[in-house]
Amino acid sequence: MSDYAELLKQQKENFLSGATKSVSYRKEQLKKLKQLLKENEEALTDAVHMDFKKPPFETFGTEIGLVIGEINYALKNLDEWVKPEKVPTSIVNFPSDNYILKEPYGTALIISPWNYPIQLTLLPLVGALAAGNTAFIKPSELTPHTSGALSDLMALYFPQDLVTVTEGGVETSSELLAMDFDYIFFTGSTRVGKIIMQSAAARLIPVTLELGGKTPCIVDETAELEISAKRIAWGKFVNAGQTCVAPDYLLVHPSIKEELVGYLKTAVHSLYGDDPEQSEDYSRIIDQNHFQRLTPLIENGDLVLGGQTNAATNYIAPTIIDNITWDDPVMQDEVFGPILPILTYSDLQEAVTQIRKAPRPLALYVFTSEDDTEKFFLENVSFGGGAINDTIAHLGNHHLSFGGVGTSGFGSYHGKASFDSFSHQKSIMKKNFLVDIPIRYAPYEGKMKWLKTIFR
Ligand code: NAD
Repeated sequence: MSDYAELLKQQKENFLSGATKSVSYRKEQLKKLKQLLKENEEALTDAVHMDFKKPPFETFGTEIGLVIGEINYALKNLDEWVKPEKVPTSIVNFPSDNYILKEPYGTALIISPWNYPIQLTLLPLVGALAAGNTAFIKPSELTPHTSGALSDLMALYFPQDLVTVTEGGVETSSELLAMDFDYIFFTGSTRVGKIIMQSAAARLIPVTLELGGKTPCIVDETAELEISAKRIAWGKFVNAGQTCVAPDYLLVHPSIKEELVGYLKTAVHSLYGDDPEQSEDYSRIIDQNHFQRLTPLIENGDLVLGGQTNAATNYIAPTIIDNITWDDPVMQDEVFGPILPILTYSDLQEAVTQIRKAPRPLALYVFTSEDDTEKFFLENVSFGGGAINDTIAHLGNHHLSFGGVGTSGFGSYHGKASFDSFSHQKSIMKKNFLVDIPIRYAPYEGKMKWLKTIFR
């Protein structure tokens, strides 16, 4: 038996012992996770900085702080979430009591990507623990400092029959995917999502897939352009564009394009100064492979901002490219880097038709002052979730569930949705022995007319 198989066996035994099920135990674990984050904030921040020079402010705001916020929310609401949900009976089952129990699946496998290496690993863990599961975590091999720190810290704060971190790449993932987990929560690319789902299908393991896609960002002629530009520049260049819900491309009304580009340039300058390479507030590309994948995309269209690169440090400046067509290479796959292509649309129907030609995106943003424009996109484009007049911000509200649709994934989490994702809904009907209506029992002769009066 491999080490992983032995660890999984231990987790299964722990789960079956019932130890993880009491609400007080779950809360204790959530508090421990919060303690881990608070006591090791600096070490974790340093680790992410070593991995891709992520600014400490962003590490707290988009990773550690976000997870602490989710833990606090779960601690406050868990008593309510775990309660059996009472539902009415149906006429054919009168009288009976009906309710839905929220039952943990058991042992959960969480596979996470590199781009928000703390948040995307620990937010699912909050859901798994709140729902009473044990968890195996496989963080990304592309952030070795953060994954190593998480592995060391988890081992210090949690028994391994409750939470285990297994470091490694594809081989480790593949070994874990061949094992008998009760739930798989995967965040990563659509390509690997398909591999995960195939493996899960072989054992009929339920999955949540949080995947990627090309997120459109539409700006119409009624938008307040200066504020729009700031919010777009922030959402695109935070984490150096390596955000699953970053605006992938701009689709703008031609009448305001020049003015918007002017404001975008100003916004980028105010974020990162004259030379973003010198800014402490700007991240690097995660590795050479992604650097090599991204740099040719700068050649598309006409460069209006940035374009500078430094292969030695995986630096790509915040870059804007104009006069892009739908057929350009930059429009074929998720950009996932600090390159913002600009396209134009002549009318809203054309914009929607073009967006619909691509797979359904994880997010969509519309900048407009017109309610009808907002409504038109919301009603006519299928996408995971999004924002009107902002970018990325919807992720920071745990009252909004977060997830994709189509090739950007399925299932959702954040807030109560995380608890629900890691819980099986066990529906129960309870009857008494006092009443036993005979209509369902054979012989059926003469009973059809009664049955038909029920289902008229
Ligand atoms: P990835 O799919 O390459 O890797 C994700 C995880 O899967 C890593 O832990 C990796 O080790 C593992 N993995 C890689 N190849 C595998 C294989 N063949 N078999 C099994 N496991 C394998 O993704 P990434 O490059 O780390 O992250 C970027 C992608 O993730 C982007 O497409 C982005 O949009 C997406 N993403 C989505 C969300 C979301 O919430 N929907 C969040 C962040 C990133």
